[in-house]
Amino acid sequence: MKLRRCPRCRAVEVCWVEHCLATTTFDQTASGIGEEGFHSNGADPFAVYGHCQACGHEWRAKGILQITDLPGHPDFTERARRNES
Ligand SMILES: [Zn+2]
Repeated sequence: MKLRRCPRCRAVEVCWVEHCLATTTFDQTASGIGEEGFHSNGADPFAVYGHCQACGHEWRAKGILQITDLPGHPDFTERARRNES
């Protein structure tokens, strides 16, 4: 399995952080905008950042939107296995 590594020091120990779009929705009526918003999070991942555990370098993982697209994640491994057979 070819894991992605820190681009600066080549360490394999990386903390991956998936960024998702969070939204808060407020309804407006003739009397104004309500105090209570509806908060939604955890939806629509749009970027993954790596944080190197060895040297502290941070970078954006190119070409992927979510952690399940990274080599080494169980979902990625399962997809690769199915594509082989
Ligand atoms: Zn590093």
